[in-house]
Amino acid sequence: MIDLRSDTVTRPDEQMREAARDAPVGDDVYHEDPTVNELQNRVAELLGTEAALLVPTGTMGNQVAVRTHTERGQEVLCERESHVYRWELAGLVQHSEVQPRTLDGGARGVITPEQVHEGHVERSGHRPGTGLLTLENTHNARGGVAMSVDTIAAAAAAAHEHDVPVHLDGARLFNAAVARDRDAAAFVEHVDSVMCCLSKGLGAPVGSMVAGSAAYIERARRTRKLMGGGMRQAGILAAPALEALSNRDRLAEDHRRAERLATGLDRIPGLDAHDPETNLVLVETDRPAEAVLEDCEAEGLLAVPFDDHLVRLCTHLDVTDDDIDEAITAAERAVGTAAGRHR
Ligand SMILES: *Cc1c(COP(=O)(O)O)cnc(C)c1O
Repeated sequence: MIDLRSDTVTRPDEQMREAARDAPVGDDVYHEDPTVNELQNRVAELLGTEAALLVPTGTMGNQVAVRTHTERGQEVLCERESHVYRWELAGLVQHSEVQPRTLDGGARGVITPEQVHEGHVERSGHRPGTGLLTLENTHNARGGVAMSVDTIAAAAAAAHEHDVPVHLDGARLFNAAVARDRDAAAFVEHVDSVMCCLSKGLGAPVGSMVAGSAAYIERARRTRKLMGGGMRQAGILAAPALEALSNRDRLAEDHRRAERLATGLDRIPGLDAHDPETNLVLVETDRPAEAVLEDCEAEGLLAVPFDDHLVRLCTHLDVTDDDIDEAITAAERAVGTAAGRHR
């Protein structure tokens, strides 16, 4: 079975397993886990921030970040298809009691400075005031779109004009960095906090990071505790995550394979593949996505439905060039079988 559902399906390699076994650990709630401290320092250094905090998941990272930035009742500006708004069980409302105001970023999910100015609400006797702008890079639902540093900087600058802080959902920030040939820190420089997942393209079994100023991370640590995310000997998780950091440069391979996959799938009648910018491939399907995916699974290929006639495939650490060829062949057979049924 070729599993292209997500870059989260990777299995930790021997090196990661050994690192977990051998990690020096302590109680991280007491700040005493040396491996967690090392990971947090290393990620802060990579992202160019004063501090960073290990959280179990990207979702908790985003939710901790939002709650730490905002006051109950404020508005939060976010893209219409953004993960924090659409795919986190209305956590904005449940955890932070804020009111999302969505902005339509169009096909690439890009939020412009004009949209930020227009969406901004000034606090008054009648209006709650905007407490935060969230951005996402790469943009998941828009197909792994890699926004430029300038795009991020422009939207962030508009928010800052209104004294509104900015959180960047960088679940796949390192993919964006590789695609745009920039350091991850170049994106982070323009925002007030960032979340990035070590459990996606980099292949760590567990772990995401929230990064920002030392004062912000100190407060985020309290929010993490509130949400039940204060872990004890978490060095067992931090050690493989440290190993995973060395997989940043090889993300270019995933991007190359995504292109190869998109080209192959696009040649199949009934499938229309979008041009990938990173490791996600969106494919429009003539037949309902669920039916196409069922036939693909029968042929040995797994992907996820994204809409009624849209599926997403994702290249990752555990996929080879041969797997990509096999995936294309499986999709061809799946579409062919369906055509046969209709004759
Ligand atoms: C995956 C993802 C998350 C959430 O990460 P989890 O570790 O699955 O909770 C947040 N934002 C984006 C853009 C993602 O793709």
